[in-house]
Parts: sequence; structure tokens; C-alpha cells
Amino acid sequence: MNVLIVEDEKSMALEMEFFLKKAGYLCDLAFTGKQARQIMSDHPFDFILLDLGLPDLDGLEVLKDAKKNCPEASYIILTARGDLEDRIKGLDLGADDYLPKPFSLLELQSRMQAISRRKSGLNDSVAPLGDFIIDLNKRMVLFNGEEIELSRREFDLLSYLMLHKNRPLTRAQLSDHVWGDFSDDDYDSNFIDVHIKNIRKKMMAFASVDWLQTVRGTGYKIKI
Ligand code: CA
Repeated sequence: MNVLIVEDEKSMALEMEFFLKKAGYLCDLAFTGKQARQIMSDHPFDFILLDLGLPDLDGLEVLKDAKKNCPEASYIILTARGDLEDRIKGLDLGADDYLPKPFSLLELQSRMQAISRRKSGLNDSVAPLGDFIIDLNKRMVLFNGEEIELSRREFDLLSYLMLHKNRPLTRAQLSDHVWGDFSDDDYDSNFIDVHIKNIRKKMMAFASVDWLQTVRGTGYKIKI
């Protein structure tokens, strides 16, 4: 999952970046509204965390543009406590949630996870996956209580497919959202196939993985 952090207070932006990277997210930073517009125009994001108090542009204007450029992204607006009117406007403009400053990074993460689940139609962070159980928060896949040893990237790939279940995702989408900046033309997108093959191999030792489907000419999907 890739995240754009739009925040002019650098120490706070870096703190969020450090925390979210550790939690397995890919992060880009923008310190001004103009930078944010630029980055959003050449890159798709899963999450945009938007401080409304930016030095150059009105955060609500940035949000309006962003919704056009990245309609698929989820938006959390970050506001100073008390800016009730801005918060309401932000939600009216289509933000998914807001957090008044100062907020805890754990709360930010749990709000992000809640939005991801809501959008994917999952009620819980723990969900069945065929005969397996996937725990999105603890980043584990289990079979009869036993953990399947997946690499970090394998888990990222599987959970991204799970959060978009029943939707075919292209190799390019998967590499953009799970790997970030590797989608250069000269980069061989076969690496997605290699990872899928490894996931299947590791999991098939326990049970069928026919829910992890290849979509001919496109990519992959989880069908459940
Ligand atoms: Ca600010």
C-alpha cells in the first residue's frame, strides 16, 4: 500500500513516514500543496494523508484536486483541533476520515486499517482465505493455527489482493502498489509472477489455493 503524506511540519512528516514504513506501507512525502499536486499527478496512491494547514495552498483546494487525480485513494485529513468547519468541509469533499492534531500514530494506523477493511467489505482484520486464515493486522497467514512462512513482500502482495478481493489487478497495479518505484519500463514485471508462484508453492503444501487465480492477459485476483 502506498501512502502520500502531505504535511509541512517536516519532523511530523518524517515521524509518520518512519512509523508507517515500519508497519509495511510505502511512503512519499510532500511538504507543500504544490509538491503534493505534482506527486499525485504522476503516481497512484492508496492513501493520502493531508494536512489542511499548508503554507502555499488551501488544503481543501488540494483535496478537491486530489479527488479528481486520485479518485481511488482513501483520504484522511489532519487538522488542528477546533477547526470544526474545515473538518466538515473536508468530509463533504469526500475525505474518508479526519484526525485532529496531535494524534497518536497507532490511532492513525488503526484508522487506515479500518478504512481499508471497510472499502474491501471485510468486517474484521482476520478473515478466511479458503482453508487458511489471514490476519491483516498481525501480518500472518495461518492454517489450523500454524503460521505459513511468507516473506514480507509475499504477504504484502497477498494482503493487497485480499483488500481488493474479487477484482482482477494488473501486474502494473500490483507492482505500483506493493513495490512502489520499480515499475520502470525496463524493469521485468515477471517478478510478480515469481512471487505468486512462491506464495502458491508455500501454501499448497497445506491446502488448495484455487482462490488465488491467474487472470489471463491481465494479472491476478483473489476469488472468494
Ligand atoms: Ca501545517
